[in-house]
Amino acid sequence: MSHDRRNTPLSPATRLAQALHHVEERTGAVTPSIQPSSTYARGPDYAPRQPYIYRRDGNETTQLAEAVITDIEGAASTLLFASGMSAANAVLEALPMGAHVVAPSVMYHGVLHQLRKHHGTGRLIVDFHPVGDLDAMRAVMRPGVTALVWVETPSNPDWTVTDIAAAAEIAHAAGARLVTDCTATPPPGCRALDLGADISFHSATKYLGGHSDVTAGSLAVRDPDAMWDEIASVRMLHGTILHSFDAWLLIRGMRTLMLRIERQTASATAIARHFDGHPLLQSVLYPGLPAHPGHAVALRQTGGLFGGMLSIITKGDEQTAIDTARHCRLFYPATSLGGVESLIEHRKTVSGPGFDVHHNLLRLSIGIEDPQDLIDDIEQALTRASG
Ligand SMILES: *Cc1c(COP(=O)(O)O)cnc(C)c1O
Repeated sequence: MSHDRRNTPLSPATRLAQALHHVEERTGAVTPSIQPSSTYARGPDYAPRQPYIYRRDGNETTQLAEAVITDIEGAASTLLFASGMSAANAVLEALPMGAHVVAPSVMYHGVLHQLRKHHGTGRLIVDFHPVGDLDAMRAVMRPGVTALVWVETPSNPDWTVTDIAAAAEIAHAAGARLVTDCTATPPPGCRALDLGADISFHSATKYLGGHSDVTAGSLAVRDPDAMWDEIASVRMLHGTILHSFDAWLLIRGMRTLMLRIERQTASATAIARHFDGHPLLQSVLYPGLPAHPGHAVALRQTGGLFGGMLSIITKGDEQTAIDTARHCRLFYPATSLGGVESLIEHRKTVSGPGFDVHHNLLRLSIGIEDPQDLIDDIEQALTRASG
C-alpha cells in the first residue's frame, strides 16, 4: 500500500501527484492495482486475513482513494460512495426519525429534492432559508433540537457564497452538526473541516474525478463518532460503496487535481472578466470577480482557487438563453461539472419545474481548453442567439 517516507510536511500538490507516494509492496508498481473481489477467503485459523470480508464493507482500491481524500481534506476518516447522491442520502438516513434539519432553499436540486421529500413525509423536519443568509439561518435554528445544518458553497446555480466558519458557529451554538457541500471548490483549495464543518461532502464525480468518467461521493470527518458509524453502516447495508474500478479512476483523476483546478480557475476568471458588462448579458456570476458579493469570503475559504463554475444571465427571453447553449460549438450542451471539457447548460430546463432558478441562467463548467477558444465560442453563440 502507500508509504509516507518523509516526516517533513509535503505540499498537497506533491501528495496528490503521487497518490501519497503509493508503491505496491508485491510488485513495486507506482500505480495501484484494481482489487475487484466480492469476497475474501479466511486464513487457516478461520480469521479474516485482512480487514476485508465482503465487497460491501470495503476493498483496498477504494480505501486508497479514501486515504488520498482524507489527506487533502485534513480529515481523520473518509467514506466513498457510488455517487454524490448516495453519500448525501447516507447522511440523511443516519438521522433519527423527525430530526430537525436547516438547509438553504436554493441548492443542488437532487439534495433539495430529498430534503423536501423527507419533510413532506415527516421523516425529517426541514426549515429552509435564503441561501447564504446567516441571519435567516440563525432565525430558524432550534437550540438543543436542530440536528443538522446543510450548507452548499458556492451554491448551485448562482454561486452564492456562505461563510463556513460563521455557519459552523451558528450550528454548534445550537448543538447541531454542520455538513458542507463544497463540490464546486474542491480541497486542498477549500478545506471545509479546517473552517469548522463536521462533515465535508463532495460529489467526487466533479473536480476530484475530473474526467467525466466516474460517479462518486465522499464524506470526510475529523471526529468519527456514533453518527459516522451509522453512516458507514448505511453504506454497507445499502451497498452504496464506491466500486473498485471507479475508485481506481478517481485515484487516477485526483493525481492531476491541482493542475486542473489552477487552470480552471485561471480560465474561468479570464472568461468572467471578458463577459462582465457584455452588452448581450444581464450579469456574470462568479465568486472570483472582485465585485461578487461573496468574493472576500470565497477568497478566504479557497485560497484563491475559486474553481471553474460560473453562470451568465442573458438579456432577452428564455429562448435566447436556450439558443445560446444550443449554438455553442465547443461547450458541450450537457449537465454536470468539473471535467476537463467545458459544459454549458440552461439550468431551468435541466433542474425541471419547482426549482427557483432564473429562466435566462446558463451554467458554465470551464474545462482545461484554451480560454480564448471558449470566449470565442460563447461570443459567436450569443451573437447568433440574439440576432
Ligand atoms: C453533482 C452534485 C451533487 C450530486 O452528486 P452526484 O455525484 O451527481 O450524485 C451534489 N452536490 C453538488 C453541488 C453537485 O454538483
